[in-house]
Amino acid sequence: MSESIIGVDVGGTTIKIGFLSENGDILAKCEIPTNKTNNGSAILTDMWKTISDEMYHLDIKKDDIIGIGVGVPGFVNSEKGIVDEAVNIGWKNVKIRDELRSLSDLPVCVANDANTAVLGENWLGAGNQAKNVLAITLGTGVGGGIIVNGELVNGENGTAGEIGHSTVKINGLPCNCGKKGCLETIASATGIVKQAEVAINNNPSSELATYYNEHGDISAKDVFDMAKNGNKLCKEIIHYTMDILGFSLANIATVLNPSKILIGGGVSKAGDILIEGLKDSFQNYALPRTNDVCTIKLAELGNDAGMTGAAFLVKQQIRHVVF
Ligand code: ZN
Repeated sequence: MSESIIGVDVGGTTIKIGFLSENGDILAKCEIPTNKTNNGSAILTDMWKTISDEMYHLDIKKDDIIGIGVGVPGFVNSEKGIVDEAVNIGWKNVKIRDELRSLSDLPVCVANDANTAVLGENWLGAGNQAKNVLAITLGTGVGGGIIVNGELVNGENGTAGEIGHSTVKINGLPCNCGKKGCLETIASATGIVKQAEVAINNNPSSELATYYNEHGDISAKDVFDMAKNGNKLCKEIIHYTMDILGFSLANIATVLNPSKILIGGGVSKAGDILIEGLKDSFQNYALPRTNDVCTIKLAELGNDAGMTGAAFLVKQQIRHVVF
């Protein structure tokens, strides 16, 4: 049997595990709930139990596995294989490489989940193996990953790519990170909903307020759908959101000069209305020469980006493959 790689995407609710061939075909995948009790102390043993069960079912031997790559939502020291802090799952100073290696007796590589997502998209998705790529994930929060000269950028202590926590509004709304006015407070699904709630309060007799009163709730998808149908308040919210997002991306792109900006995450399912608004705004704020070489695209791998990129991390760190 040819060799395979295990890619793991640890999320706040579920852990996605994929078995991939060396050229990226997903041979099998499975999902287990993230057990966050006791500061996530059972996560690694749960993960390894599922992997070894799956190996048995697939009849894959340890000798056929190149390694295990793991993407974790938090600050990660990829070189040392340590998760410094992952607030959502309760981890602090978890020596994931050593612990998972002693459980599995396999090589282990670890990176931040937004970084594994950009690796996955650039390997087999919308990035098409570009040398300089910026990727953002618009979900409950805003994540980001950066590839420069074919390699992930981690920074001095793991905050490189934390685009969601760049300040876009001085004294803006409080963010989960403790700061105020982060991009995440505006351009995430949560941020869009907050903007809608303000608009509803300010316009109690609007169509948007009526919708909210009838449904008792509003989602980012509702705001995009109503904007597509011409609702004025929702169009304003989306226009403002894309303006701020394009402004942030243009500033980062002017510094990094990428050929691709990839937009993923649940909010990106809004599609054309998002990409078109973003392109206009990006063009307004980026250096023309930066804009000339840069394509803004929707990510293509969806939920598989993380596990795919975690597998590529193994190729990169163990087999020294670069884009
Ligand atoms: Zn923040």
